[in-house]
Amino acid sequence: MPADPDLAKRLLEGDKRALARAISLVENDDPAGWALVREVYPSTGRASVVGFTGPPGVGKSTLIGALTKAQRARGRQVAVLSIDPSSPFTQGALLGDRIRLAEHFLDAGVFIRSMANRGALGGLSEAALQAALLMDAAGKDDVFLETVGVGQAEVDIIDHADTIVLVLQPGSGDSIQALKAGIMEIPDVIVINKADHPLTDTMVREVRGVLSLAPQEGWRPPIVRAEAARGEGVDELAEHLAAHRAHIEEEGTLNQRRRRNLMNEVLALATARMRRRLEESVRDDADVQSLLDRVVERRLDPASAAGSILERQDGG
Ligand code: GDP
Repeated sequence: MPADPDLAKRLLEGDKRALARAISLVENDDPAGWALVREVYPSTGRASVVGFTGPPGVGKSTLIGALTKAQRARGRQVAVLSIDPSSPFTQGALLGDRIRLAEHFLDAGVFIRSMANRGALGGLSEAALQAALLMDAAGKDDVFLETVGVGQAEVDIIDHADTIVLVLQPGSGDSIQALKAGIMEIPDVIVINKADHPLTDTMVREVRGVLSLAPQEGWRPPIVRAEAARGEGVDELAEHLAAHRAHIEEEGTLNQRRRRNLMNEVLALATARMRRRLEESVRDDADVQSLLDRVVERRLDPASAAGSILERQDGG
């Protein structure tokens, strides 16, 4: 039973406070949050979800701020979700930092939220995905996912976007290496921000060089030169985002991507639940403890011990 029976209704109507409350429920792993997602899920899938990735300091927040302005001018409703697993700060402090987004705080058509808490179930990336669904259900046309730190959790979240934007600045050599080595997947759009820098042309050439090594079929990732701080290149970025969205809709890749992403999400949630159940059931179990003792004494190998634990689970 949801704590607030009207919450789903108000959320679907686009009420900003209802959305904020709903995300808090999900973030705190409150059962009412999961019930709410269950209720509004059929109304999701409409928003275009764009993930922004790139090294800290290249101007992702600035760019998202400028892009939000551009999309608002087109009459689109925007939600921004900043994900920062490394931040020890409270939400307020984190948002206080995001000055570029501050001008949008009073706009009813813009919803901004940052998330640092690891929810108990499935962790931060799961909570962030649920938050993105809630933003979608609240009628946002664009959901921008921004990652602040660098780590596996952020990569996972960004993978769930329909469109992935890699933001670089002149001199981002590490990212070029990561792309070349295949550590980083080829994004859908590449932005070279701070294009006022004298090394911009070199950077564009390097990126083009890496892209030429990728398969030359389907969508060709455009390279956008931008100066986010002055709003330069932002309209062009918005056009490429719309073009990419139209492309993946036409080709059917949007559905494929979403199917793959949703499958991963289902598996991640199921895995988290199984792990929790398993941990709970073995914690105080004397037999499991003695099994562990034998592993420590090198009389039983870890894989066999795991096998025994699973057998007991299946039997019980
Ligand atoms: P993030 O860590 O990737 O989100 O980067 P921020 O958006 O916080 O920007 C980092 C710094 O770069 C800030 O001081 C911005 O003002 C600055 N910056 C952003 N865009 C530009 C730009 O186009 N040119 C220049 N020179 N500086 C920029």
